[in-house]
Amino acid sequence: MSLPSALYRNYVDGRFEEAANLFPNLSPVDGSIVGHVCEADASQVDRAVQAARAAMEGPWGNTSAAERARVLHAVADGIERRFDEFVAAEVADTGRTEQQARALDIRRGVLNFRTFADLASQAGGDYFDMRTAEGDVFSYTVRKPHGVVGIISPWNLPMLLMTWKVAPALACGNAVVVKPSEETPGSATLLAEVMHEAGVPAGVFNLVHGFGGGSAGEFLSRHPGIDALTFTGESRTGSTIMKAVADGVKEISFELGGKNAAVVFADCDFDKAVAGVMRSSFTNTGQVCLCSERVYVERPIFERFVAAMKARAEALRIGYPTVEGVEMGSLISRNHRDKVLSYYALAREEGATVVTGGGVPHFGDARDNGAYVQPTIWTGLPDSARCIQEEIFGPVCHIAPFDTDAEVVKRVNDSRYGLAASVWTRDLARAHRVTRQFDVGIVWVNTWFLRDLRTPFGGTRLSGIGREGGRHSLDFYSSLTTICVNP
Ligand code: NAD
Repeated sequence: MSLPSALYRNYVDGRFEEAANLFPNLSPVDGSIVGHVCEADASQVDRAVQAARAAMEGPWGNTSAAERARVLHAVADGIERRFDEFVAAEVADTGRTEQQARALDIRRGVLNFRTFADLASQAGGDYFDMRTAEGDVFSYTVRKPHGVVGIISPWNLPMLLMTWKVAPALACGNAVVVKPSEETPGSATLLAEVMHEAGVPAGVFNLVHGFGGGSAGEFLSRHPGIDALTFTGESRTGSTIMKAVADGVKEISFELGGKNAAVVFADCDFDKAVAGVMRSSFTNTGQVCLCSERVYVERPIFERFVAAMKARAEALRIGYPTVEGVEMGSLISRNHRDKVLSYYALAREEGATVVTGGGVPHFGDARDNGAYVQPTIWTGLPDSARCIQEEIFGPVCHIAPFDTDAEVVKRVNDSRYGLAASVWTRDLARAHRVTRQFDVGIVWVNTWFLRDLRTPFGGTRLSGIGREGGRHSLDFYSSLTTICVNP
C-alpha cells in the first residue's frame, strides 16, 4: 500500500486515520508546502494507547524473542525495499543532504532494527546460588516487557533517533505509541506503512502526529495508560515531560541537549583534527546533539588551527540538498533559524570576534525563502558568555586557546550539560588520563560520532537520564522479576 505523499496520517490500531486538524509541513529548503499533517487529538492518542494495551493482552504479549526478531528483521527488510522513499522523505522534511540521509540516517534505521532484534533474541538472565540456614537456594531473573511505551522523538535525526527507541522497545516485547516531531512527519509515516506491510499485529506500533504542549506530545506523556516513556529532545522539554509522568511514577529515559567540547592538543595529527572538528561542528548543519560548539585548542597551534578552520568553513558547499557535492543543507525551519541568528547577534554583543560567517547566505533563488545560515566561527568570548553556556544547535563553534591539561578539564566541565566530548592527540596516555575526568556520557579520541550500538549512550546533568544502547536498552525496555527458589 502507499499513502498519498502529501498527507501524513496517524496509524492507530493497524489503520491509517485522518484527523479534524491539519497543519502544513514546510520545506526548509525553499519554504514550499511539502504536505499536510493530521494532528492527532486527545481521543486519537487515547485510542492509540488503548490499542497498544489491547495488543499486549493478545498474542503479541506472548511472543517469543525469536519470533519478535523475525518480525523486526522483516521491518528492516521493508525499509531497505523502500530505501529511496525514506531518503526522499527525510531530505524533504529536514533539508539535509541526500548523501547524509543515505549514508547515515536511513541506514541506521535499518541497523537499529537488525541490531536489537539479534540482541534481544540472544539476551539471557541472571542466576545466583546462595547458601542459607534453610538450605541451598538459587535465584534467577525473568525479563518481561513493561507493556506500553510512549516514544517522543525530535526532528534533528528523525528516522535514526525514532528507530533507536522503537526497535529495542518492540524487541523486548512492548507495544509502542510514537509521537515524532511535528517538523518531520515523513519517515515516521513511511515506517508505519512498513510496519503494516511487514504484518506487525494491529496495536503493536501506533503513530500519532502533532505538536508538544497542548497537543499529541502532552496527551501521550500525560496518558495514564503508558507504562514507560522515552524521550529525545531539548532539556527544557524533558523537564516538562518529567513532571507530566511523575504522578504515575513511570519508567523514563531522557536523551537531552548538549554543549559539547572538542579538545585539540598541540601534538595532534593536525589535518585529521581539523577535519574532525569541522565534522563535529558542521555535520547536519550543526544540528546533532553531539556536535561541538566549544572548541579548546592548545595555545602553540591555536592561530594555525583557527586559520585552517576558517578556510575549510568558507569552502563548505551550501545548497540544494539533492545536488551532488553539497556539504551543508538548511536548518530545520525558519523558526529555528531565528533562534540561531539571535545567537549570531548575541555573540557580537558579548564581544566575540567573528572569524567567519555570522549571517545568511544569499542565493538569488527560491532558497532565499528557506532556512539557511552561514557556517560560523567565533573566538574571544569568555567561558561565562551565554553563547558558550547555552545550546545553539546550529553550524557554529567558538574556538578558545588553553595552556594546561588541568585547565582544559575544568573548562570542559564548566557546563550545565554533560553529553559528549572529543579529544585530538597522539599521546594516548594523556588521552586516557584526561577523558576519564570529563563529566559526560561519551568521549571520542581522534574521532567523532562513531557509535557501536552495543555501547551505552546518554548524558549527565541537563543532558539526560539513563543510558540506552546494547544491553542498557534491553534493561530500560524491560522489567526484571527475580525468582528465588528453595528446591
Ligand atoms: P523538542 O524538545 O522541542 O521536541 C522534541 C519532541 O518533544 C517533539 O516531538 C515535540 O513535539 C515534543 N514535545 C515538545 N514539547 C512537549 C511537551 N510539552 N510534552 C510532550 N512532548 C513535547 O526538541 P527538538 O527541537 O525536536 O530537538 C532538538 C533537541 O534535541 C536539542 O536540544 C538536541 O540536543 C536534543 N537531542 C538530544 C539527543 C540525545 O541523544 N541526547 C539526540 C538528538 C537531539
